[in-house]
Amino acid sequence: MKKKEFKTESKKILNMMINSIYTNEEIFLRELISNASDALDKLYYRSLTDKNIEVKREDLRIKIDFDKKNRTITISDNGIGMTKEELENNLGTIAKSGSELFKLENNKLEDIDIIGQFGVGFYSSFMVSSSVDVLSRSIDSTDAYLWQSDGADGYTISDASKEDYGTVITLHLKNDDENHEYSEYLDSYNLERIIKKYSDYITYPIVMEKEVTKDNKTQKEEVTINSMVPIWKKNKKDVQDDDYNNFYKDRYYDYENPLHVIKSKVEGLVSYDALLFIPSHAKENYYSKEYEKGLELFSRGVLITNRCEDLLPDYFGFVKGIIDSEDIDLNISRETLQKNHQVRSIEKSIETKIKKELLDLLKNKRDDYEKFFKEFGNSIKYGIYQSFGMNKELLQDLLLFSSSHDDKMTTLQEYKDRLVGEDNKIYYASGESISKIKMMPQVENMLNKGHEVLFLTDYLDEFVIKTMHKYEELEFVNVQDDDKLEEVNDEVKKINEDNKDLLTLMKETIKVSDVKFSDKLNNHPVSLSSTGDISLEMEKVLHAMPNSENVEANKVLTININHPVYKKILELHNKKEDDELKKYTKVLYDMALLINGLSVIDPNELTNMVCDIISKE
Ligand code: ADP
Repeated sequence: MKKKEFKTESKKILNMMINSIYTNEEIFLRELISNASDALDKLYYRSLTDKNIEVKREDLRIKIDFDKKNRTITISDNGIGMTKEELENNLGTIAKSGSELFKLENNKLEDIDIIGQFGVGFYSSFMVSSSVDVLSRSIDSTDAYLWQSDGADGYTISDASKEDYGTVITLHLKNDDENHEYSEYLDSYNLERIIKKYSDYITYPIVMEKEVTKDNKTQKEEVTINSMVPIWKKNKKDVQDDDYNNFYKDRYYDYENPLHVIKSKVEGLVSYDALLFIPSHAKENYYSKEYEKGLELFSRGVLITNRCEDLLPDYFGFVKGIIDSEDIDLNISRETLQKNHQVRSIEKSIETKIKKELLDLLKNKRDDYEKFFKEFGNSIKYGIYQSFGMNKELLQDLLLFSSSHDDKMTTLQEYKDRLVGEDNKIYYASGESISKIKMMPQVENMLNKGHEVLFLTDYLDEFVIKTMHKYEELEFVNVQDDDKLEEVNDEVKKINEDNKDLLTLMKETIKVSDVKFSDKLNNHPVSLSSTGDISLEMEKVLHAMPNSENVEANKVLTININHPVYKKILELHNKKEDDELKKYTKVLYDMALLINGLSVIDPNELTNMVCDIISKE
């Protein structure tokens, strides 16, 4: 019979398995049982929608046998089975869970411990087996096939016979060597332990034949090993933190414990159990279109879909977990889930729950919350921004910003609580980094006056704040916003009026909205601010986005009357040296652009002008 080779990626994983570089090899059983349980789910699900298939749920089961003499372990299920093509496609190529491992492999192959956190799937059987047989018959066929492989050299598929549908996997254990005692798996006590440890929650019975002594007679009997109560149905007090953590890591292919576990049982119009996890870090693709949000949806312990998107709003898309509700009809088709009334009402209720848990975290475990916000804060921000503020009420108290108050992040409520007097404004400044923001003259001024200023360093921040417009009754005010903040005293007003011609000339030279003199710039020669809806920082962000090159902030150049440059400008104007004046204006404007992190329009021209000025002295 012709042997077929494994696909390249499968070969790599297989090699890792065969050489057993991962020490926690007992997980092979968990993987095979989990596949069997999936196969039972699939069959049961089919039977609900396909009249030709009659299956009683109580007949579905997984059976584990072992044979000491022949050194084999068998895992049998009466699930959906596989056709010849399915054997070929499913077992010859690496499955989804394995490909997760591949993404990681490039960076961290040496970090073998991580492998254990990934569902390595069927191939993990090669950690303990020298060869594996898979005998399977699909529910859709009367033919059975035998898939056989010793891992390294590929596999064969041959015709076989099997009385009923389902799959029987036989592992031929490797011989013991100095590092491994594979024989330890040929022991009912040990197998039982492993089943209880990893597969207790499987909702179908996992049975083993055991010798039972009754009335002085010893006989073989089938015993169910697992409790079959899924972890999400158990009371929180009966479950250890570690159980939740391990469940999460195994199921959602994470190598870190979740940051927070949410367990909730809701009874009411729609009743459900929820076991939800907030990961401690965002997946690489979280902020991309590739990321697929969703929760697993069960009804009475039976999986309906492993990713129901409609249970989670986008802004809480990072949440992983399970909803189990007996109010969801098992017959529901995946297509109609979206319109399903119960699903919608569960979504609403979960949204409220997640928000409440996050607020609790914020209140009681601030460090954890800050960690959460670092990873998923942008998800919350998008939630406000993309809804044009519709979700503002729901999400605004989950936001954190850096602030001049102290080195910690602050919520808007905390800012509000610190406000004194009548000033019902929230001041903010945005820029690339806190240190750059602190250098802005307008910020210096505000701080000197004793105001607290939010430092917006994330590119989304200002968009979010503009979308929100207000926090409760407090208006957001950009300290660089010229319209809102300039208070001009009479003396400065007069200087501006007296020099109207000069200012107009300067304004036309650099094509900005306004040029003016001010006494509020401390030691800075010039500063740049904006008027209107688009701030300087927003201009930067918008320029970085595709198709928005023409969006510009209305800029205002301010010149410090207490700085020598002011005198120089007046002098040039009085001497009617317009060309020089224009040159100086351009240089000053370019400096202001640079200070604000914007790029100068013509760096060559700037260089020439500066060199000109230098060589003149
Ligand atoms: P995964 O379970 O992550 O998809 P595996 O390598 O464990 O990856 O399994 C590959 C595929 O083989 C499964 O997705 C399933 O389609 C099929 N399969 C494995 N075991 C069984 C089984 N006992 N019954 C039916 N199909 C199975």
